[in-house]
Amino acid sequence: MPGEQPGDKSLIKLNTNESPYDTSERASSAAAQKASELRLYSDPECAELTQCAAGYYGIDKDGILFTNGSDEALNYAALAFCEKGAAFADITYGFYKVICDLYGIDRKIIPLKEDLSIDISDYFNAGRTAIIANPNAPTGIALSLDDIEAVLKENPDDVVIIDEAYVDFGAQSCTCLIDRYDNLLVIQTMSKSRSLAGGRLGMALGNRELIEDLNRIKYSTNPYNVNSMTMAAGCCAFLDNEYFTENCGKIINTREAVSSELKKAGFELTESKANFIFAKHSRISGKELYTELRNRGVLVRHFDLPRINEYIRVTVGTDKDMGVFMDNINQILKEKK
Ligand SMILES: *Cc1c(COP(=O)(O)O)cnc(C)c1O
Repeated sequence: MPGEQPGDKSLIKLNTNESPYDTSERASSAAAQKASELRLYSDPECAELTQCAAGYYGIDKDGILFTNGSDEALNYAALAFCEKGAAFADITYGFYKVICDLYGIDRKIIPLKEDLSIDISDYFNAGRTAIIANPNAPTGIALSLDDIEAVLKENPDDVVIIDEAYVDFGAQSCTCLIDRYDNLLVIQTMSKSRSLAGGRLGMALGNRELIEDLNRIKYSTNPYNVNSMTMAAGCCAFLDNEYFTENCGKIINTREAVSSELKKAGFELTESKANFIFAKHSRISGKELYTELRNRGVLVRHFDLPRINEYIRVTVGTDKDMGVFMDNINQILKEKK
């Protein structure tokens, strides 16, 4: 199940990794302008948006497919490339398992190491489609470009899917490897770093033959998968690069500041390169911490799963919201003494 979208708007919402910053003004006004043309179908080829993205990433427009959120790109990729099965971590984005179960795709679950990092050699010669979130969720731990390249080299006959939902918060994107590896499919989203979660805009980037396969599925299931307001907003989101860079920078700074405060308060953290913090404390369980915070008006995410049920995942919000979060954390710990 996705994280809760609470009706109570007074809660400080740090549970689904949305951006705390508004959508770029340019992007939202472009969307608003399109609202008067909703009589017409959207462009099934997303031509203008694809042009924007091709310029932005420096890749061929035939190597780009836009989708209704990146979950739709993952859905298409599961249908197109997983006939031999899929391989992914025991602790990663929950949707991979959901989608495999829906389609009856055989899944090989690869445990993370004790420290919750990925051992890339576990993905060599996978004999099926590897799916790796980089940075991983909910740990936030990133792999290097060299690590990704090694996985690509060691799976020459199978597609490797790299889900870069959080890449803009401090990890290295592997889009630069697309020209050299025809088995690489990169998936990105505008939901997190570009403040467009409700617009639903994701993309798949890769070799033109891979994108052609995905397009076949798109045109057989949902040719107008991206609506015209979102398409217009997406273009402007690419063009408004300064605003995007500034917001990512702010989120990274806040993440680092709150991380060091949490460490001072006795928390153990993974090294997150994402827009969330994954933390546990020896004196209080993840579940109790989640509940205590919620009772005080701060909503974070707790996963009741083996290996990570001691942790909470906290989306990085504004400095103000994170101040309230930290005050509550310190109070809860004081009461636990
Ligand atoms: C949020 C997320 C997605 C999906 O995002 P969309 O809103 O569907 O674009 C995909 N992968 C990971 C790892 C995510 O955290």
